[in-house]
Amino acid sequence: MNINFNKSEGLVPVIIQDDRTLQVLMLGYMNEEAFEKTKNEGIVTFFSRSKNRLWTKGEESGNFLTVKNIEIDCDNDTILIRAVPKSVVCHTGSFGCFGDKNPKGFLYELEEKINQRIDEKVEDSYTYSLFQRGMNKVAQKVGEEAVELVIEAKDNNDDLFKNEAADLLYHYLILLKAKNISLENIEEILLNRNK
Ligand code: AMP
Ligand code: ZN
Ligand code: ZN
Ligand code: ZN
Repeated sequence: MNINFNKSEGLVPVIIQDDRTLQVLMLGYMNEEAFEKTKNEGIVTFFSRSKNRLWTKGEESGNFLTVKNIEIDCDNDTILIRAVPKSVVCHTGSFGCFGDKNPKGFLYELEEKINQRIDEKVEDSYTYSLFQRGMNKVAQKVGEEAVELVIEAKDNNDDLFKNEAADLLYHYLILLKAKNISLENIEEILLNRNK
């Protein structure tokens, strides 16, 4: 790898990306020594401009970044590292340095919201009031939405069909919660079948 360390006083910016979700986690800088150390150890070490020394990310917190892949940009002056973080990456306690949107996307955010409504017993929430009526009622509701979806599948109205598909997905997430099963559990089964 032919990195140009001379462009900005021996330091090259390094983007750290979560290898599993591709979320951008943080940005740091490396000099040649930090880069060599990172390559050799498989754990990310930056050159800290504020500490003015090599800084292994996680040296105090234990939250190391394990290197999975290293890439250099088109003109050899920026490094992209895909890594697996041991735990939270940002020193503020949030998962990444650029906000905490669920990196797995909106469906997982919706799952979190549904779980929050139920766990915090939000009285005026439809989600919680349905949940409170018990497992059978929730399951029955999913059945109804599935039937509505089937009915719309036979019609020629895409808008109605899409809305019923959304209803089903939403109620399906409530049923998962009622069964104490997470969307990730289901994803895992599908992933394994796909192998
Ligand atoms: P750590 O490397 O995680 O043990 O953290 C050591 C120190 O580095 C912290 O006290 C912060 O000052 C700083 N630090 C840790 N993580 C970050 C980060 N993602 N961005 C900037 N500074 C950080
Ligand atoms: Zn560049
Ligand atoms: Zn941060
Ligand atoms: Zn419906």
